[in-house]
Amino acid sequence: MKATDRLLASDPFDFSASAKALFRESFRENVLHHYERHEFTRKLWQRFGVHPLDLQTEDDLARAPGTMVHLFKEHEFCSVPRESLALVLTSSGTGGQKSQQFLDPESLANVKSLALSIHRSLGMASSTAYNYLCFTYDPAVAQDLGTAFTDELLTNFTGKREVYYAIQWDAKTQAFALNETGVIETLRRFEASGHPTRILGFPAFLYEVISKHDLRLKLAPDSWLQTGGGWKGKADKEIPKQEFRRFITERLGIPEANQRDMFGMVEHGIPYVDCERGNLHVPNFARVFVRSPHDLSLRPRGERGLLHYLCSYNFSYPASSLLTTDYGSLGSCDCGLGGETLILAGRAGVSKHKGCALKALELLETT
Ligand SMILES: [Zn+2]
Repeated sequence: MKATDRLLASDPFDFSASAKALFRESFRENVLHHYERHEFTRKLWQRFGVHPLDLQTEDDLARAPGTMVHLFKEHEFCSVPRESLALVLTSSGTGGQKSQQFLDPESLANVKSLALSIHRSLGMASSTAYNYLCFTYDPAVAQDLGTAFTDELLTNFTGKREVYYAIQWDAKTQAFALNETGVIETLRRFEASGHPTRILGFPAFLYEVISKHDLRLKLAPDSWLQTGGGWKGKADKEIPKQEFRRFITERLGIPEANQRDMFGMVEHGIPYVDCERGNLHVPNFARVFVRSPHDLSLRPRGERGLLHYLCSYNFSYPASSLLTTDYGSLGSCDCGLGGETLILAGRAGVSKHKGCALKALELLETT
């Protein structure tokens, strides 16, 4: 049995010495696979004088050379023949800055299983049937978009009743548009149903609809809000997380402990999800390093720098060690889950990548 299969079957928030050793074994296995099949990755690692099997301790992991995220936007990096892929995930973008990830059947099964495992550990999976309001693209149309994939995946972690997708394809304008009237009608219908609701998607959308229409609802107990995608492009309107949580409790009746934000990148694929206190936890399925933007040296704990991510589940896409242009730092949380927490602090440089969130926010601007 592969080390990666054993890792993904283990508790994502077990940070014992043996659990951490299992991540390292899985990471070596995964990188060795890419090293043997993907020329760029092999040459990069050779240039840094590091072989995948050299990475034995936690400190060794920081020696893994990071492949710059923009290379995945400009080149189609793939370690298996294209015909063996099961899914190509993309995030919408402009000017050739499209993010994508290649998944063969094994890697697709892995990413689904690790996402379920993380959500289950955070108390977010359930056999209860929920009504869903998704502030994202209808996956029937946007099958390959990362956010649509994520939402369809998330709705499968619980039982489900009705699923309503708020960003719909308008055949007349040939573009996606937020169906605001539909959102309000749906929320009122869900409130009246007496069944619990889960709302998924971009926080800015929800905030704006509630504010604009002065909505005040009391959704059934055990309703949830699962946000993702951030406030990118609408940063001027962003309200602090804790204030946003109180606002949602007041206006929709969703308890703060049931409001969870998630951060993910299409190229990396590991979901960093809020605990009930609102901190993004790093699971044992990944490692996050914080590096100096000047010389890529490790920053002292708690200090800000460029985020460098490791993961081991994808055997078709050589992004196991991914150096990003996002700033952040690592912290901790006393909720009992353990491990490190990820604190995001924006993007480096002046070139803004237009991801799904930004694209969706542009829709808001025009409605
Ligand atoms: Zn926590």
